[in-house]
Amino acid sequence: KASGKNTYHAFTPELAHTVHVREHMSRELHFAIDRNELSIAYQPQFQGQQLIGVEALVRWHSAVLGDVPPNQFIGVAEDTGLIFAIGEWVLEQACRQAANWNAAGQPVRVAVNISPRQFAHQNFVALIASALTRHRLPASLLELELTERLVVEDLQRAAVTITHLQQLGVRVSLDDFGGGQSSLSFLMLLPVSALKIDRNFVINAEQSAAGQRVIQAITTIAHALGLRVVAEGVETAAQRALVESLGCEVIQGYLLGRPMSAADLQLPFSPRIPP
Ligand code: C2E
Ligand code: CA
Ligand code: CA
Ligand code: CA
Repeated sequence: KASGKNTYHAFTPELAHTVHVREHMSRELHFAIDRNELSIAYQPQFQGQQLIGVEALVRWHSAVLGDVPPNQFIGVAEDTGLIFAIGEWVLEQACRQAANWNAAGQPVRVAVNISPRQFAHQNFVALIASALTRHRLPASLLELELTERLVVEDLQRAAVTITHLQQLGVRVSLDDFGGGQSSLSFLMLLPVSALKIDRNFVINAEQSAAGQRVIQAITTIAHALGLRVVAEGVETAAQRALVESLGCEVIQGYLLGRPMSAADLQLPFSPRIPP
């Protein structure tokens, strides 16, 4: 089976297994929307004591495969093109939920993760504009999280798209900042409003003075450019105090709230552990 056209690559049993799993996953994922297997969990983001937004995180409960984490199926969705349907579904749910909260007198900004292929699609800005209109959602209540990976490929084009989104009034943030091939000069070219620094940086800061200086350097430059800095994956009060002292103004993490269903996110939401 592994011979023939595949002989060029070392087709190990592990790889065969991986390929098999991915094929199986992609078959099941194909039906996930119609079978109602996707849902969204919302994780709170705090500035001081104040809830300033939530991040929408997709969840897949497959009847066949059980709970599959997004880190496993988003890649498959990107490779197969299913990401367009899934991404639109997530955007739709998130906008509807944000509009419902707003109509109930609880405006909260919802941040939606955007995959590189979605962002690169020529209709992307139109898709966003249409979602805002259909749900009568003020643009200021929508934020889009872009990974650095997507902007590396065509920086000029990314800058144009982000400018169009900002003109709509939508906020754009750079996710997993510092994790990829990012360079700080990106920040000067891309009109984003916030940076999200990965949980690994938070852990490094706890472990070494060098790790602390890295966060401090990032927040210093971000602030000089007028950007907010969000620290992700903050699990302890000590981590929170540390990253706040290094200049991160927004905190997201299990300390203040796990991703949860919209029904469980009772607004106004107060953090589980009072600061
Ligand atoms: P991300 O955008 O960096 O999201 C943050 C991840 O960290 C989430 O994992 C969240 O549950 C987790 N997290 C939050 N606080 C803590 C903490 O205190 N400790 C630890 N250990 N983890 C924490 P999740 O939900 O499994 O999502 C993983 C990744 O999948 C996301 O990383 C994002 O890249 C992707 N993803 C999730 N939903 C979507 C989506 O709707 N569209 C796209 N394109 N990607 C998505
Ligand atoms: Ca994110
Ligand atoms: Ca992130
Ligand atoms: Ca991440």
